[in-house]
Amino acid sequence: MPFRIVSGDITKLRVDAIVNAANSSLLGGGGVDGAIHRAAGPRLLEECRTLNGCRTGEAKVTLGYDLPAKFVIHTVGPIWQGGHCGEEELLRSAYRNSLLLAREKHCESVAFPMISAGVYGYPKDQALEVAVSTIRAFLDEEENDMEVLLVIFDRGSFRFDVHLYSEISGYLRNTYDEEKERGSFFGDVAKSVAFGGVSGSRCSLFSRSKSTFSANCESAVREDIDEEAAAAAPNDLRKALENLDESFSQALLRMIDSKGMKDSECYKKANIDRKLFSKIRSDINYRPSKQTVLAFAVALELDLPETEAFLRKAGFALSHSNKADVIVEYFIRNKNYDMYRINEALFAFDQNLLGA
Ligand code: ADP
Repeated sequence: MPFRIVSGDITKLRVDAIVNAANSSLLGGGGVDGAIHRAAGPRLLEECRTLNGCRTGEAKVTLGYDLPAKFVIHTVGPIWQGGHCGEEELLRSAYRNSLLLAREKHCESVAFPMISAGVYGYPKDQALEVAVSTIRAFLDEEENDMEVLLVIFDRGSFRFDVHLYSEISGYLRNTYDEEKERGSFFGDVAKSVAFGGVSGSRCSLFSRSKSTFSANCESAVREDIDEEAAAAAPNDLRKALENLDESFSQALLRMIDSKGMKDSECYKKANIDRKLFSKIRSDINYRPSKQTVLAFAVALELDLPETEAFLRKAGFALSHSNKADVIVEYFIRNKNYDMYRINEALFAFDQNLLGA
């Protein structure tokens, strides 16, 4: 998966490079900087002494020493001063320069902490937006082919868009069948693992009672979907999707062409790794995971009936007893095909992300 949000400790990650949110002396500090120096051992500080510091927004690289990562990219984020002192530009530069340095070192994987979102005081929601949009702009460039992880150390500090969170919560309250998912956890673990069911079944973020948020979604959503599917006369794309002789791989390639997309545009938008896409392209009988099918459905901007038909091709179906499915359904119904946003939402609701 080219971009992933993960929770955990960055010093434990086996990636080519981890990024350190350092201070301009590069001589160590608290927070993630302290954790990285502790885990890397004293040779890291020795090498840092030779670098003569680093300006805000710039980046420098050292070896990773005792860390599982080969390199540490040290960057200095801005100190938050209210937002009118160029903080956003400096934070974007810190991400971008770190990514360029990772590319220069031929890194295939790089992990970032939320730069400036700790003692430097950058508001966490804005820090997340800057991190995701800057990484995305980099990965969208044709020549950049890298796995980038954004590591959330303390899940409580992950600030997802409050309005969208409320909307999705309302949709879940009306649509998600939590009881069934719990049942399926014990009855069919393999199926749950296939798409986020396990992590989903352990969290119960939403009370089933109605609240003010649910007023937005008071319609009987499930009936709505059925009616919509019945009313919509199958269009050519849907008919073609129902063609049983066509495999998933063939259907995907045909739809990419019919949408006038370039392959790279499609797999990047789907958050699918180039190597996986090549595999699908060359193996007519490729059997994708459900996340992969959904990722392509989003990239191709399919509507709900089309998504259902596309899933059936690979032997899957959207389920209202699977929280991740319901969240993806929310985005598709609202024609919001922004994969990064969808993955932020899935992370916020403790579900597996889309893509591969
Ligand atoms: P800054 O000075 O740039 O704000 P901090 O180290 O104080 O840097 O915090 C940056 C981010 O790193 C914060 O979101 C903090 O929660 C996170 N963080 C702290 N320790 C770790 C760790 N071991 N792994 C990943 N992230 C971490």
